Amino acid sequence: MAAQSSCGWFVRTFGSPRVRLLLFFALTWLGIASLLVFLLFEGRNEAERKAQSDALGASALLEARLVVTLRRVHGDLEHFAASLPREALRMGAVPRFRSSILNELGYYSGRFPETLGFRIIDAAGNLLYASETLPSSVNFGDRSYFQIFAKGSSNSVFFSEVLVDRLSGRSSLVMALPLRDTAGELLGVLVAPLDVAYLSKMADALSVGENGVVSLRRTDDGSLILRRPIVPELVNQVVPNNPLHRQLDAGERFGTARFHATIDGVERIYGFRRVGDYPVYVITGLATADYLAAWRQTSAVAGVAALLLFLSLSLVLIRLLRAEKEEELTARRLMDSEERYRMLAENSHDVIWTVDIPSRTYTYVSPAIKEMSGYLPDEIVGQPVDVRLTPDSAARVARDIDQRLRRIAAGDKSASVVVSELEQECKNGEVITTEVVSSYLLDADGVARTILGITRNVSERKAVESALRETNRQLHARIEEIGRLQVALQELAVRDSLTGLYNRRYLDETLEREVSRARREGIPLSLVMLDIDHFKRVNDTYGHQVGDEVLRMLASTLLADIRAEDVACRYGGEEFLILLPNMPLETTMLRAQAWRSAVEALRVTHGNFQITFTISLGVAAYPEHGKTPDDLTRCADQALYRAKHEGRNQVSVFFG
Ligand code: GH3
Ligand code: MG
Ligand code: MG
Repeated sequence: MAAQSSCGWFVRTFGSPRVRLLLFFALTWLGIASLLVFLLFEGRNEAERKAQSDALGASALLEARLVVTLRRVHGDLEHFAASLPREALRMGAVPRFRSSILNELGYYSGRFPETLGFRIIDAAGNLLYASETLPSSVNFGDRSYFQIFAKGSSNSVFFSEVLVDRLSGRSSLVMALPLRDTAGELLGVLVAPLDVAYLSKMADALSVGENGVVSLRRTDDGSLILRRPIVPELVNQVVPNNPLHRQLDAGERFGTARFHATIDGVERIYGFRRVGDYPVYVITGLATADYLAAWRQTSAVAGVAALLLFLSLSLVLIRLLRAEKEEELTARRLMDSEERYRMLAENSHDVIWTVDIPSRTYTYVSPAIKEMSGYLPDEIVGQPVDVRLTPDSAARVARDIDQRLRRIAAGDKSASVVVSELEQECKNGEVITTEVVSSYLLDADGVARTILGITRNVSERKAVESALRETNRQLHARIEEIGRLQVALQELAVRDSLTGLYNRRYLDETLEREVSRARREGIPLSLVMLDIDHFKRVNDTYGHQVGDEVLRMLASTLLADIRAEDVACRYGGEEFLILLPNMPLETTMLRAQAWRSAVEALRVTHGNFQITFTISLGVAAYPEHGKTPDDLTRCADQALYRAKHEGRNQVSVFFG
């Protein structure tokens, strides 16, 4: 269990791309840094090894030269000591031997430029012979080399400390050999002061770098014979705890060591080598600062390169982390938005679906399908796009998809969204009308691979729309009916119900208008007023109904014989008035006569009776008789009155 959970932690932690990326870069950098450190370390070691070997080589070189010099001088001293007649060492014998000895000394001195000269001193320390010019009197009895031979019995060559030569005034390292008689008594000392300046030149010939050092020390006490660079006050001085000296004491003839010099505090790698069996050894020191200079330069360059590499790696890492973070953010946003869309799809009342175009099958159908059609999403997903559609709708869908794909392929973007109305069969057999909005989703190449659609059941809306249309139609019919009724009502308002002629109210309006028009246009206008003669008798004789029939007959007779623009109206009980626009008086008279004749000829059948009747007519005209409606009416009335008065069944015109 614990193993499982720790495994889970491992996968969670190292499974994260961010951690993997960080690890990769950390390991890469660590690898590069380690390699670099290793190489630099190796480089340093190599430089040190080389410095050691160089120091050792330089010390060997100097030793080789020195040992040759010392051996030659030593050999010559030995040779000379052996050949020197002992009586020449007495002060008194000097003049006798001077010339031959000086000759010989001069010969040796000439062979050895590294010596300041060859000299012989007597048992009292007085200088007897010298290869160089002899001063009057010089005693060397106080010198260490004399003292050591005077006090002891040593016969071997002796190396002095560095001395200022009494003859030349130069620094010298004196090689001295005792001259004894057979009993071992000291008779004198053979002296060859080595020129320290000459030895220094040998040291100078070595290349030990800017801060390097070359020195020559004694093996017995370690005191300094010479040093390059020169430090005069240190000559003959001992440096305590010299690590090289310790190695010498331990019996080493050569060796190396690295330490900080006591004299100048500089760290160096030193090589030392004993000069033959003589009590001197050479030391060459290469300063760490010198032999590591190139390495340090390389290290600095490598360090800068590593830093640059680190920076560029870090930069790349930051970029990658940022990109990764953005990718993560985008992915999260995508997930969020997908979640939102999924929520929308799952909770939508409309059915949301997707169709894979190549296979033309449903790939997703939202749960709302259940409520809409009774089918479950699983019953539709994987089915062809036209499943459950009525045959007509299925055919339309197939045609539409083909057509749209062609248009989209031709670059017509407007073809990618379509709204259509399709009929679908529900599980219970009911057919519903749906409104379908389809969007063709294009991939990066502009190819449509998926249709995203929303289907809504609009059956109810359709039913309401159809009900609304029916109501609307009925309303229109009603409105038309009302219109017709209104027209009829308006007619009724201006018509007389018994005869169908216009009533007096209508006449008043029309007369007013026509008089104005006649005046405006300068045209004539006539009025004919007529009244049935002795109508009371008709009523009285045949009854009121017959009277009404007579009135109707009269009206239809008049209507049949007037122009469209003429206006006939029932003016009173059995009084009628006919308005004749644009008709002059003479013509009106003729018209009136015609009506009178027509009425006279009428026969109204009532049972076995043929009823006849006549009318009297009065004519007035505009502008001759009057210029206002009232005037004209009054004139027509007066003309009628005259017709009655003059015997009835006649036409009278107004006058005077
Ligand atoms: P006159 O020749 O002088 O005109 O004699 P008249 O008998 O016609 O006299 P008047 O014009 O005065 O008579 C009017 C009569 O018309 C009175 C009335 O009974 C009758 N009358 C009026 N209106 C109607 C109607 O609507 N129907 C019927 N049947 N008679 C009507
Ligand atoms: Mg009347
Ligand atoms: Mg009448």
